[in-house]
Amino acid sequence: MTIVKNSIATLHYTLKDDAGEILDVADENNPFLYMHGVGGMIPGLEKALENSKAGEKVVVSVAPADAYGERNPNLTQDVPREMFGSIPDEDMVVGAQFQAQTDQGVEIITVAAIEGDTIKIDGNHPMAGETLHFDVDVIDVREATEEEISHGHPHGPGGHQH
Ligand SMILES: [Zn+2]
Repeated sequence: MTIVKNSIATLHYTLKDDAGEILDVADENNPFLYMHGVGGMIPGLEKALENSKAGEKVVVSVAPADAYGERNPNLTQDVPREMFGSIPDEDMVVGAQFQAQTDQGVEIITVAAIEGDTIKIDGNHPMAGETLHFDVDVIDVREATEEEISHGHPHGPGGHQH
């Protein structure tokens, strides 16, 4: 079968940035499962995978607008060190990432700079503004179960366990 709405696809992929640096890998030890057509995947990659089938290779470059969006400079702000409370100094380094509860839910924030007791944080997605280069092997395609459809995500190895 081919990847259509509510398909569960198992992928292996290598994700690189413009500089050719590897950002993420999914392989036999760590396969990536997703449900097609439910918004659980960046739109540019989802579109490229539509109608492909097991055994196919999909190579695609996805612009920021179809991935994690452009960087928004308004998402950086200075916050006092004490907002990070008990986090030890050795973990408060530039590039460190933390989960933060915001009005939009849980988001990842990145430490962009540290100036004394002031921490400059960046709420952009770590891959915002990046063109993403995917080299994908479609390993398996199956129909979602009713339970998976009702949850909106895949179950089983590589998927959610609930
Ligand atoms: Zn579930």
